[in-house]
Amino acid sequence: MRAHRLATTRRQVVVVGGGQAGLAIGYFLAQQGRDFTILEAAAEPAAAWRGRWNSLRLFTSARYGSLPGRAFPGDPDRYPTRDEVADYLTDYASHFELPVELNSPVRAIRKTDGGYVVELDDRTYETEQVVIATGPFQEPFVPAIADGLDESVTQLHSTAYRSPDLLPDGRVLVVGGGNTGFQIAAELSVSREVHLSIGSRQTPLPQRLLGRDLFWYLDKTGLIRKTKASRVGQRMQQREDTLIGSSPRAARRLGIRLHGRAVDAAGSSVRFDDGAELDVRSVIWATGFRLDHSFIDAPVFDGDGRVVHERGVTTSPGLYFLGMLWQHTRGSALLGWVKDDAEYLAGKIAARRSDALTPETETAGAT
Ligand SMILES: Cc1cc2nc3c(=O)[nH]c(=O)nc-3n(C[C@H](O)[C@H](O)[C@H](O)COP(=O)(O)OP(=O)(O)OC[C@H]3O[C@@H](n4cnc5c(N)ncnc54)[C@H](O)[C@@H]3O)c2cc1C
Repeated sequence: MRAHRLATTRRQVVVVGGGQAGLAIGYFLAQQGRDFTILEAAAEPAAAWRGRWNSLRLFTSARYGSLPGRAFPGDPDRYPTRDEVADYLTDYASHFELPVELNSPVRAIRKTDGGYVVELDDRTYETEQVVIATGPFQEPFVPAIADGLDESVTQLHSTAYRSPDLLPDGRVLVVGGGNTGFQIAAELSVSREVHLSIGSRQTPLPQRLLGRDLFWYLDKTGLIRKTKASRVGQRMQQREDTLIGSSPRAARRLGIRLHGRAVDAAGSSVRFDDGAELDVRSVIWATGFRLDHSFIDAPVFDGDGRVVHERGVTTSPGLYFLGMLWQHTRGSALLGWVKDDAEYLAGKIAARRSDALTPETETAGAT
């Protein structure tokens, strides 16, 4: 229990998370003239992008990198770098003067009679409506077999990988057959013997077809906007994890040796599902993420902890989610399409009466 009351500020809307989803809804809330704030845990804007590996290039072209109201700069047919995206998002927030509060991790959100209390370490907000935009890829996930490896093996989750020079010389195993695993393996193959463990095969798709970007076709055919409830959407979800611009064949051409699922590890050796074993110097776990919504105290989760919602709108009045994978369509968690859900939720927010709270009322000071 807290020993003293923290300063409490009232806002009509609080957005948690200042990545592309938080900024996109911020754009629409600003257009509505709403009194809102965007609380961002990190010390700098675009933290998720800055935290990805140095040589990362988008799998979507710049044409599909724009948030609402401001085009992604430069040649629309190129594939921007990680840093270009971080710069674009930083510029976006400052261009529209969005009220992003950095160094502001939200520790708890509690439902009250009239809305929500949003708790930080040093202050709280009272608000009628909250948008959770904390990202589709939150907590790095490493399988339990990692514990079997001894200290002679350098281990990193893909979120900690930046460039090959971070690893010691010697054989490296990348675990994970998604875009991240393939791309990191390709980069390492220039300087090392690289092995790639593929747990479940994903459908490889070319990045460009007949001179056009893959997403151009998805956009023009309307596939990117097929809802998750539609028949096509359901089929696409089953194949959600598609490799874009990488493939097992291309990896083999780079000299990368492919294995099945990694099932066990002991000492400096990893065992695969066909019984083969490999002695390794380093392992990169490109094994994905888990969501962490444990800071939200509201009745919006099912028995497995999944958010129950309809296009981001929950049954807890005024509580929304934005930017989740397949929130509504394949584009929901992508730079170029998050605006569709953001605009939809901004409409829902506007439709709710927001006169219950007076903006910017200081109710208590820290003592
Ligand atoms: C390796 C990789 C490559 C990708 N490439 C592409 C691509 O080419 N094209 C494309 O369109 N998409 C791509 N994506 C998908 C998607 O665009 C990104 O994941 C994007 O970062 C998602 O944006 P977001 O705003 O939803 O979440 P994030 O960017 O993760 O932002 C969420 C923010 O919330 C903050 N936060 C979290 N918890 C709290 C809290 N409790 N309190 C306050 N703040 C909090 C975080 O610090 C973070 O800044 C890629 C994703 C990955 C992982």
